[in-house]
Amino acid sequence: MYDIKSKKAEEFICDSEIRSTMQYATENSRNSELIEQILEKARACKGLTHREAAILLECNQPEYIEKIFALAREIKHRFYGNRIVMFAPLYLSNYCINGCVYCPYHAKNKTIRRKKLSQEDIRNEVIALQDMGHKRLALEAGEHPLHNPIEYILESIKTIYGIKHKNGAIRRVNVNIAATTVENYRRLRDAGIGTYILFQETYNKENYEMLHPTGPKSDYAYHTEAMDRAMQGGIDDVGIGVLFGLETYRYDFIGMLMHAEHLEATYGVGPHTISVPRLCMADDIDTADFKNAVPDDIFYRIVAILRIAVPYTGMIISTRESRECRGKLLEIGITQISGGSRTSVGGYVHEESEQENSAQFDIADHRTLDEIVEWLLDLDHIPSFCTACYREGRTGDRFMSLLKNGQIANCCLPNALLTLKEYIKDYASPQVREKAEAMIKRLTETIPNEKARATAQRYLTAIENGERDFRF
Ligand code: SAM
Repeated sequence: MYDIKSKKAEEFICDSEIRSTMQYATENSRNSELIEQILEKARACKGLTHREAAILLECNQPEYIEKIFALAREIKHRFYGNRIVMFAPLYLSNYCINGCVYCPYHAKNKTIRRKKLSQEDIRNEVIALQDMGHKRLALEAGEHPLHNPIEYILESIKTIYGIKHKNGAIRRVNVNIAATTVENYRRLRDAGIGTYILFQETYNKENYEMLHPTGPKSDYAYHTEAMDRAMQGGIDDVGIGVLFGLETYRYDFIGMLMHAEHLEATYGVGPHTISVPRLCMADDIDTADFKNAVPDDIFYRIVAILRIAVPYTGMIISTRESRECRGKLLEIGITQISGGSRTSVGGYVHEESEQENSAQFDIADHRTLDEIVEWLLDLDHIPSFCTACYREGRTGDRFMSLLKNGQIANCCLPNALLTLKEYIKDYASPQVREKAEAMIKRLTETIPNEKARATAQRYLTAIENGERDFRF
């Protein structure tokens, strides 16, 4: 029985509700009156229910598809301006005891090279990341109680926050590790993590169990209820996602929105971010073995509809996607992208040859961070290295209220410009510096509040003179 506030996976992600939503969406996919109403509701930034969003996804009429894209662009702009937050993944260890059939870390894979970073290795990786200009990381690790226990993750977080190299600093560490206990989530919170990220992979229980035949991750309920435990452990920024390509996109799109609704209804705050990874080729993994690949045109529609369905949720795209695809997605909803990423363990210090492959998947966007920053500037997006909200305690519903109150222009815009200024002073190539300076000058003038504008100008001068780490 569907129960949005239940703590049981099979009740808040109810298979029969997903299936009846799919049927309802098909039946109404040409219902112009209803579609117009849904678009009107979305335009008022009220978000959409999973049922409403499912109708939009099913609707194939070109004029409505265009309207959806236009609205996604508008909402993206209204809430996030043209800022794009930058981050990089840091792979700590690929030891894993799970049997996930789509992931090269699976325990039976004998060809992948197993590696785990020591604290000294982490130090070196982080210095390499700081020297690129990164301020925000997403930690990644396989699940292995002996190699990667929670103590190892906690120690690694402490190491990362402690590294001060030149003007560099990692100011926000997000964590993507296997589902764990309330107690361990509390320890992660106490270690000062930003977002706890966990992908559901698929919400379809039957398929989930086939895709995860062995290991702790095979427990669908334990995995699906992880965000509830994270919230109970005091983490109020959680990031959800599905791995598109494992299950039909219709099923997982609805399941993911039901998950977001459950968190909002139960804890008063929805997910901080939604990630939209698509399955990639990897060591011992052939995407041709999976029958649910999502074509680009549908993928763009998924992102646009998510944007209007959950306007207050950040959306992340990784280097699994190509430059062209990422460029399109930035326009219609994405708010965070990774840059200069390596998915191999130790890959920032030592680029691997094919023989020593420890990577998680093949990336599609190989550009350096500086090249991505330049590309964003050319597209008139502001590359932002901001980590201010979390450091000012604006997490969970406090972050959401900043968005809802429209304080973005007086707070997030200056923070983006200040961190971009730091980036160009410390790391950028000359042509990026020139382009960014012009953008900073132009956009500082547009900060609406006079006092905030003056403060931003003062901070920019201080950064020019060698000071760092200002924030609103
Ligand atoms: N072990 C943790 C877990 O179970 O959630 C950490 C996650 S893993 C390092 C990060 C994510 O990579 C997975 O959740 C999965 O969605 C994704 N992934 C695994 N295999 C992939 C592949 N072949 N292509 C693209 N993404 C993949």
